[in-house]
Amino acid sequence: MVRTGQLEAKKRREQILSLQVDGAGLSVRSRGDLQARVMIHKLCRNYMANLCCEHDFAGKLLTYGDFGPAAAWKHTRLTHSQFIELNPPNKQTAWVAVPGWRKERNLDDLMHTLHLGVALCVIPGLIIDHLIRTNPAITLDRLERSLLHAYWHHRAWCKENRVPYAPLRFNLARFGKESWGEKPELTTQYKAMIVKHLIYWSHAWLTEEGAESDILCTSFALAQFQYKLDTSPDWLSPNDKRETVDAGFAFLQFYQRLAFKNLRSPKQQYKLTPKFHYFCHLVEYIDKSARNVRYEHCYADESLMGQMARICNKCHALTLERTAMHRYRVMLDLIVLGSDQDDPEGP
Ligand SMILES: [Zn+2]
Repeated sequence: MVRTGQLEAKKRREQILSLQVDGAGLSVRSRGDLQARVMIHKLCRNYMANLCCEHDFAGKLLTYGDFGPAAAWKHTRLTHSQFIELNPPNKQTAWVAVPGWRKERNLDDLMHTLHLGVALCVIPGLIIDHLIRTNPAITLDRLERSLLHAYWHHRAWCKENRVPYAPLRFNLARFGKESWGEKPELTTQYKAMIVKHLIYWSHAWLTEEGAESDILCTSFALAQFQYKLDTSPDWLSPNDKRETVDAGFAFLQFYQRLAFKNLRSPKQQYKLTPKFHYFCHLVEYIDKSARNVRYEHCYADESLMGQMARICNKCHALTLERTAMHRYRVMLDLIVLGSDQDDPEGP
């Protein structure tokens, strides 16, 4: 009798082995953090340059922080061949030699774009803005104490909802707000998975606190975007796609409005980085492909890096490369064997 689970396991093993034979099995796409993208693809247009996007002319002149329907950068889209032509010859990515590769296959990663990017600015921005609006004469000392109170609420809320809470208490240093002129940004001491839960908690806290509608609309739209991804399968139905995309674009426009209103205030709350622009392209990608980007994020890759670091730590320096690769191969085999044993239809 043919067992579906065994066939699946065999197919997965063949896919993994095909990577070791030749490049035919390689998926024509790449993903990673911004630094890796710039290095691998030799991107002249990157988050540190005046022109920060490989898909259009967004940058310092045509602001990357405009997310309205008439944003100037939306009229300057680049096709794949235009992007290639605009790269200097010595700055051309080696990926042009990979059949089927196009710049659109450099995927924006949900973890680095949202959880380690956009959300790091949005969460402390909304919380601090709400605390200032509640008490306009608030001092930095008092703000620090209010953040600690918010932390205790966060901890209790996470325990009640059985999700991991941030082990590090909130304070001005960790919120990147040690002076009024600084635009807050959570430090990377907060891990990506914790930040994801902070998106949900911050909306719940702001709602309980009775925050003003522009703050609540922003936190709700972001939480709704994350919720749709968390509760949808790998490919979105037309209805789920519409709701996810609407929430993503609505969030960007609400945040843009808050940032614009706060632009000339002595108390700066809202940071707009190129990652917001990349987030906009991520939402466009969902709209075009109906793909749930949660299934393409880099969480597993980051875990693999941790495993590889543990393997390399236990290898001798002189034979590190060969031994690490052998042990990596053993680890892959164990994963495949494990999937065979986990097969519910197995013998
Ligand atoms: Zn762009």
